[in-house]
Amino acid sequence: MNNMTNQHHPSIIALDGPAASGKTTVGQRLAEKFGYLFFDTGIMYRAVTWIALDHDMDIRNEALITQMAQSAQIDIRPPTENDGRACDVVIGGKDVTWDIRSGDVESKVSAVSAYPGVRKALSEQQRRIGMRGKVVMVGRDIGTVVLPEADLKIYLDASAEERARRRYDEIIERGGQADYDDLLKKMIERDRIDSTRAVAPLRPADDAVIVNTDALSEDEVYARVLEMCG
Ligand code: C5P
Repeated sequence: MNNMTNQHHPSIIALDGPAASGKTTVGQRLAEKFGYLFFDTGIMYRAVTWIALDHDMDIRNEALITQMAQSAQIDIRPPTENDGRACDVVIGGKDVTWDIRSGDVESKVSAVSAYPGVRKALSEQQRRIGMRGKVVMVGRDIGTVVLPEADLKIYLDASAEERARRRYDEIIERGGQADYDDLLKKMIERDRIDSTRAVAPLRPADDAVIVNTDALSEDEVYARVLEMCG
């Protein structure tokens, strides 16, 4: 049975890790179990990147992209379609839930999210929401920058090969097409940019529990994380 009033559960849970490390799956299950808000911060960086591409902005134009990120209206709402989405992402009245997952966005998002002004604009909003508590927040810098006071910090890791394989399976399951080698190459490149940027690079917080999920099933990862929640 869910125990939403149990005071012993950590209220602010930070879940970080590289692309396709299983953060979303575990985070969603955890949030559902505790009746917490699930907040996937990657959506915001993807949404800003989608707007830039949709407006034919030059991704290298830091000032322009930053200014846009500061005023971007990104609506995240409960899901209206039963197609595997966790939520609806709406920008300017358009449902962009799957558009922000496109290869085009994916190849540009790390450059956009390396801009300090973009990070400041988005992480301030994330922090404001996270500090209300009863939240599972998922991203790259939640434990280190957005919510350093989180009650529990988890860093999910896995080899690039394993993560690319999982992403491949996901796409095929959704009826899409994918090339494993291409996915792997792009994932390694995205991780490289994310973990070497000057501001809020991808890394585990000093007080994070690191879980390597290479040899673990989804259920095993979830069980381990649940155990940490007391
Ligand atoms: O988690 P997801 O793969 O959707 O994130 C997309 C991109 O957004 C990441 O590769 C990273 O560049 C950026 N991101 C970030 N900080 C976060 C969440 C995502 O820089 N907290």
